[in-house]
Amino acid sequence: MDLNRYSPNNLKRPSKGLINIHPIQRGGILTEEARKILLEWADGYSVCDVCLEGRVDLLRNPPVDELKQDVAEFLGMDTARFTAGARHAKFAVMSAFQRGTLVLDSLAHYTSYTSAELNDMRVFEVPNSGYPDFRVDPEMYAETFERVREETGSYPDLALLTHVDYRYGNLADAERVGKICEEYEVLFVLNTAYSSGVMEVNGKKLRTAFIVASGHKSWAATAPIGILATNYELSDRVFRTSKMRGDWSGRAFTKKELAVFGCSPVFGLPVMTLMASFPGVVERVKHWNEEIEKARWFVREMEKIEGVQLIGERPKNHTLMHFESPAFHSIAKKHRKRGYFLYHELKKRGVFGVQAGMTKNFKVNIYGLSWEDLDKVVSAFKDIAENYGVEVED
Ligand SMILES: *Cc1c(COP(=O)(O)O)cnc(C)c1O
Repeated sequence: MDLNRYSPNNLKRPSKGLINIHPIQRGGILTEEARKILLEWADGYSVCDVCLEGRVDLLRNPPVDELKQDVAEFLGMDTARFTAGARHAKFAVMSAFQRGTLVLDSLAHYTSYTSAELNDMRVFEVPNSGYPDFRVDPEMYAETFERVREETGSYPDLALLTHVDYRYGNLADAERVGKICEEYEVLFVLNTAYSSGVMEVNGKKLRTAFIVASGHKSWAATAPIGILATNYELSDRVFRTSKMRGDWSGRAFTKKELAVFGCSPVFGLPVMTLMASFPGVVERVKHWNEEIEKARWFVREMEKIEGVQLIGERPKNHTLMHFESPAFHSIAKKHRKRGYFLYHELKKRGVFGVQAGMTKNFKVNIYGLSWEDLDKVVSAFKDIAENYGVEVED
């Protein structure tokens, strides 16, 4: 084996020095504060130096216990735990409803389906409106609950809504879905992987039983870390403790919570960067309106390129967006580099993150870009279009 390939000199990040508009990257960029603590907390189980209770979420130094409560409060919930990502948070919820029934929106992330499958849940989808805006109508939750009752004899155990979906960046009407869940007494799981941490999310207002979040996607934290927040009434059920006893040793682990593998799957930098970024995150969600303003401006500018069209809801309510671009697709058909030409042309202009090989459709996320960088991104796309003879409006 060639160990030299792992030498630090060979470990350079492909996006280094470029404006990264990859959909999953924007909300996970560390704050300055998080960057400052990187080296000090980088070793293995760094947070576990002074562990008295055998659980990361109960640590007082560093203040993880306080952070867990502050994060819960920030989300309008009673308590929270740190998980290995949004996917693990969903798995943890569903593990308390094994072999039950789940309703979810048809734009849900694959990890919603795999979590359900791993917990033997029966899944019913809420349809969406399809091309071109792919909206999820909250009233369809009520219809789907009725369908579940017809087919299974009772209403579902859980209803999951993807607050902002990863394909179109549509912002679903969580408040309305929450009200419907309340009327039907179905527990409401809100997947905020793309929302909490960049925009305000309040579980009290939205009537959520569970909020799932992604630290590395939207809370300026190092992967892997997610959040599962819930209310006191449900916390004993989802964060149930171990009841097992070794049949020979008699050992028991009564303080260990099953759904987070006893302690927590995240120590060290994931939890410490989330902590160091938290004050910045509390502040930044107040400026979401400006992000929306930038997103809408970006759409207007991109659509000046012949044939470029936003797919998904309009006007935009999120910074993740999906465009169709038949003109770039036609160029790709004749280009020596085929579908890779757009990726290369963007990279030449300092822009990274449009998936290599994609030209017919592509996704970008402009969250947190300065107006100056946003302008560079728009100019790059326009310049590429013009260079290949695609018309661009003034
Ligand atoms: C990215 C994403 C996830 C996965 O989040 P992890 O924290 O990486 O597990 C789940 N759901 C949605 C809607 C996402 O966009």
